[in-house]
Formats: sequence, C-alpha cells, structure tokens
Amino acid sequence: MRDSYGREITYMRVSVTDLCNLRCRYCMPAEGVMKKSHDDIMSGEEIIAVIESASELGIRKIRFTGGEPLVKKNIVSICRRTHNIPGINEICITTNGILLPQFAESLKDSGVERVNISLDTLSPEKYSYITRGGNIADVLRGIDSAIQTGFRVKINTVLIKGFNDDEIQDMARMTLENDIDIRFIELMPMAESFADGFISARKIFDSLPELEPLESDGVAKIYRLKNAKGRIGFISPISDSFCGSCNRIRLTADGYIKPCLHSGTEIFIRHKTKDEIKSLIINAVMSKPERHHLDATHITESSRTMNRIGG
Ligand code: SAM
Ligand code: SF4
Repeated sequence: MRDSYGREITYMRVSVTDLCNLRCRYCMPAEGVMKKSHDDIMSGEEIIAVIESASELGIRKIRFTGGEPLVKKNIVSICRRTHNIPGINEICITTNGILLPQFAESLKDSGVERVNISLDTLSPEKYSYITRGGNIADVLRGIDSAIQTGFRVKINTVLIKGFNDDEIQDMARMTLENDIDIRFIELMPMAESFADGFISARKIFDSLPELEPLESDGVAKIYRLKNAKGRIGFISPISDSFCGSCNRIRLTADGYIKPCLHSGTEIFIRHKTKDEIKSLIINAVMSKPERHHLDATHITESSRTMNRIGG
C-alpha cells in the first residue's frame, strides 16, 4: 500500500487496551482512564480480523502496545494468532516491563521477536514520581527476564528537561556491559502540563561526545559508545520529524484506525465485513497527512492522550 505521498505502509501499531498499571505523567491523567465497558474495546477476535485484512494489504510488521499491553487478558493468544497470519513477518511489543517476569517466556513462545521496555530514569524515587507510584525494581526485573529469555531488548527513554537530562550519561553507560539498545525519545506535548519539559535530542546527543555513528534505522539515528556491547539511538519526532519516511498506521483499542499519531483523523473499523475493513484501511492510508505540525509547544491535534492512542 502506498499513500498519496508515495510512502509504502508496512507497519501497524496495535493498541490492545488503554488501561495501564502505571500512570506516567506525560501520558495519562492522574485518575487513570475511565474503564470502558467490555463492548467498547476490541476483542482479541476483532483485533486479529483487522490484522488479517491489513496483512493482505501489505502490512508486514505489528507492534502491540497500549496502555499496557500485558494487562490485556488474552495478549499471548493474540500474539500467537498474529504469528500465524501469512504475511506478518515481525511482531514486537512495547511494554512498561512490570509484568514481563510473568510473561516473557510465553511471549517468546508465541512468536514475539522484540521487546521495547520503557524506563525514563535509574532513580527509584524519580521512577516512582514520573510513573505516579511505580517501583523501579519491578521494571529492572522485567528487563532482566526479557534478556534471560533471549529477547533483543530496547529501552525507551523519554527525554524530559529538569527530570532526567542529568542522567543521560548513566543511562547510556548501561550499553557498555549489556547488549541492549537505548532509544532517547523527544517528549511530545500530548499533555499541556508537560509542554515545558521538552529538550531536543540534539542537545542530549551533544552531551555524549564519545559516540561513534552506526547506521540509521529509518526513525532513529544510531550510535555506539566506544567498546560498548549495546547501541544508543535518538528519535526526534519534534526537532527533526521523520514524517517523510513514515511507514505506519495505528489501530486504537476502541477500534479506530489513526493514519497519523498527531492528526485528529480517525476511522471507525468495528462491526464491518472483511471487505469493508480492507477498504477502510485503504482510506486511512490515503488520508495520511504529509507531516505533523507539532513542535515543542504546539500540542497534538489528536484529542487522545498517549495511552489511548498507543505510543
Ligand atoms: N505501556 C507501554 C509502555 O509504557 O511502554 C506501552 C504504551 S506507551 C504509550 C508507549 C511509549 O510511548 C512509551 O515508551 C512511552 O514512554 C511513550 N510515550 C508516552 N507518552 C509520551 C509523550 N508524551 N512523548 C513521548 N513519548 C511518550
Ligand atoms: Fe502506562 Fe506506558 Fe503510558 Fe506509562 S507510558 S502510563 S506505562 S501506557
């Protein structure tokens, strides 16, 4: 599938729930989300039906996200069934890692190849602050279990001025002894209260002069510390948008296809026949905007917080 700007769309991010066992300040309101009725959230069956249609249209890579995907009851079965869909050749998951000790083995067995784990600080106090009550020991155990299970692990770290910009060297040093990737990601102004937390990835990059460049992977610019086992990447959706090479669409937990993370356009895809689902996916792809118009202070045009889109 090519969109109207010639970009080939091969990647779908699938949010399986907007619920979460944490409440990160830049992502979710303090009160959490109002639990929707069971009927308002897509069932595993419906999610699989959309992925099947998408795969017939050329989607090859699926990332499960949320909310927290591991709080979805049948997540392992959804992954397994996705693995069996012809055409899907890569399944990844983005998680806060808290439940990984319990799920890592079964996710691996079900065909998930890669795990991205979110961790914004190495300080227990700061972790508890930013997640509104999380325990960093849980996520460290999660990272460990993912590595032990044989996953290729990526750590996602959102850069927040005045919160973790003083820890970047320490976080980068985690790659010296561990064959893991760290991705430093610019904060997107999804919630107004955090608009002043933006710091550009370039500034952080400049604070790590000892980085050696490696290849880029489309979205991230990748580097390595001298003699390090792991790698370091920078993702700059705000200061250096990668819209020109965007290859993705999103499916929300309540059944909308979002052509762009930051656009208000959403296409409802539930209670449809297979042919209807396919033509709605094509419509969504054709309505992908050329680029988003976000900067450090212009809040997203999407009315959803990140947990309700699927980051
Ligand atoms: N709960 C899972 C997790 O935290 O990894 C998956 C969902 S979360 C919405 C996906 C990713 O979006 C996380 O890495 C999170 O840090 C990131 N994220 C959430 N809000 C963001 C924001 N305002 N700007 C940049 N990244 C954000
Ligand atoms: Fe939950 Fe992930 Fe959002 Fe944090 S970033 S509140 S872990 S969905």
